Amino acid sequence: MGQYIAPLRDMQFVLHELLNVESELKQLPAHAEVDADIINQILEEGGKFTSEVLFPLNHSGDREGCHHDKETKTVTTPKGFKEAYEQYIAAGWPALSCDPEFGGQGLPLVVNNSFYEMLNSANQAWTMYPGLSHGAYECIHEHGTEEQKALYLPKLISGEWTGTMCLTEPHCGTDLGLLRSKAEPQEDGTYKITGAKIFISAGEHDMSHNIVHLVLARLPGAPEGSKGISLFIVPKFLPNADGSNGARNPIFCGAIEEKMGIHGNSTCQMNLDGATGWLIGGPHKGLNAMFVFMNAARLGVGMQGLGLTEVAYQNALVYAKDRIQMRSLSGPKALDKPADPIIVHADVRRMLLTAKAYAEGARAFCSYVALQLDKELNHPDEAVRKDCADEVALLTPVVKAFITDNAWTSTSECLQVYGGHGFIAEWGMEQYVRDARINMIYEGTNTVQSLDLLGRKILMDNGAKLRKFGAKVQAFVEANGTNEALAEFVTPLAELGDKVTKLTMEIGMKAFQNPDEVGAAAVPYLRVVGHLVYSYFFAQMAKIALEKQDSGDTFYKAKLATVRFYFARLYPETAMLIRQARSGSANLLSLEADLF
Ligand SMILES: Cc1cc2nc3c(=O)[nH]c(=O)nc-3n(C[C@H](O)[C@H](O)[C@H](O)COP(=O)(O)OP(=O)(O)OC[C@H]3O[C@@H](n4cnc5c(N)ncnc54)[C@H](O)[C@@H]3O)c2cc1C
Repeated sequence: MGQYIAPLRDMQFVLHELLNVESELKQLPAHAEVDADIINQILEEGGKFTSEVLFPLNHSGDREGCHHDKETKTVTTPKGFKEAYEQYIAAGWPALSCDPEFGGQGLPLVVNNSFYEMLNSANQAWTMYPGLSHGAYECIHEHGTEEQKALYLPKLISGEWTGTMCLTEPHCGTDLGLLRSKAEPQEDGTYKITGAKIFISAGEHDMSHNIVHLVLARLPGAPEGSKGISLFIVPKFLPNADGSNGARNPIFCGAIEEKMGIHGNSTCQMNLDGATGWLIGGPHKGLNAMFVFMNAARLGVGMQGLGLTEVAYQNALVYAKDRIQMRSLSGPKALDKPADPIIVHADVRRMLLTAKAYAEGARAFCSYVALQLDKELNHPDEAVRKDCADEVALLTPVVKAFITDNAWTSTSECLQVYGGHGFIAEWGMEQYVRDARINMIYEGTNTVQSLDLLGRKILMDNGAKLRKFGAKVQAFVEANGTNEALAEFVTPLAELGDKVTKLTMEIGMKAFQNPDEVGAAAVPYLRVVGHLVYSYFFAQMAKIALEKQDSGDTFYKAKLATVRFYFARLYPETAMLIRQARSGSANLLSLEADLF
């Protein structure tokens, strides 16, 4: 069923030639010893594990799905998932970028990030089990008490226990201020939590010994809305002091959802019936603590989009070289065959190159953001840490929404390359399209990401974070503006930078008069910013490729062709998007709801 080969060459290009991670990491005391050889070895091993162990379970996991036993309230994952997870933890993969103080390997996030791309290409549904554990690890690491850290972190890091995030309730997803789950304080300092959560990924399963649920609920007398929400650690089994499993906590899976994709991941309705929980992050500070998890998860969802784009591209490419149909318009190319392989046709190439460009742009972008995160956490200079934190905050909604929207386009184009066979389950392509769809919805819908970008991250600080990123773009433009060979890339980058500045000011002015202008402009605005980011990275990649194109390595020729395709065929949608963003709110809001 298809293939997956980790794109090691392109990963190495991004990490070593574009981002120079080795010299960047040298500035971070925690990672100063990490060199290119170590990184390459890890990625090679990761490539083997994901291709050989996880990828073969992707299609079968989708067909089989998870099973819920109503009597025992247990969930069984698809055949092979549990065994693959045992191999994963035996190899120490969950510990890769975790804190050595609690048993982690302390490697940089930028390495973990590339590994997560592979995991998601090979099997997104499976990857969500350890992916959520990593989010729980980050949240407890940042907000847990010393006791909570000592108890939970080693188990999450070893992979013995997995994690979940329990936010959504039947009546509230986006608007968590409406949530109703209750937490009653007990004399022993614990809380009894009661409520119903829905859509909880990996909420119940058979892969780990215990499940650490991070649950949002309200304390008695809590303020209304999002200011009255607290966060609790609610383990499936109450842990004994030595970390072994104690009594079963009454947090049970009532049902699993029938859904469009990611069938191998259990999406659970979770009922809490006086379950014991421990407060984390302070009373009414739950959303603040949960944001650590949510930000990690948003970057993780971007990686899901990248993973699916890459694997869909790889398979469509193999198919396009093999499938023969019709002749090239400029005359036969495969004279030994009754028809030409479909890769000769211009539009088949457009579809393939769309996915290739979106995968390569996303890889550069995600790796850059992960490196900025490493610097935010570990750089000795506080000013650098602050700048990196600002950049990560600005770019996180773009990673989540731009990459997953593009993954939906890319997987759909790759399905189209297969013609009717793309629609048939046995080829595996329709699974990628179905799996890609959820990434635009959970962790805050892509609309919510665009509101976060334009409203919170840009307009609320008068564009300060955007200006910092813009200064980097400007520096590149100034340094390379007179290089004629680069003009085809630098000119559109510079033009888009100017347009984003003007567009932001225009929307900001309109928003003063009418806040609905933000909601009306946000979605096309985020895509424009996404293209600014991609133009910036593609221009840099083109510069490297031009310098090395005579090296004899055809990789650089392919890179240049991809960059040229990007600027010729994908970037131009910015003109339309800017018109949409400028068109104002009246065309959306003037019609009364009952006249629709
Ligand atoms: C497979 C799956 C797995 C999930 N996993 C988890 C999990 O592990 N943990 C968890 O807690 N949740 C999980 N979720 C829930 C998910 O995060 C929510 O579905 C999502 O946040 C949207 O909430 P909602 O479904 O209630 O939609 P709603 O909030 O009702 O939104 C409906 C529509 O209105 C739009 N909308 C809402 N408010 C605004 C606004 N202010 N401006 C513009 N548009 C707006 C939304 O963008 C959306 O298009 C999962 C969901 C699914 C389907």
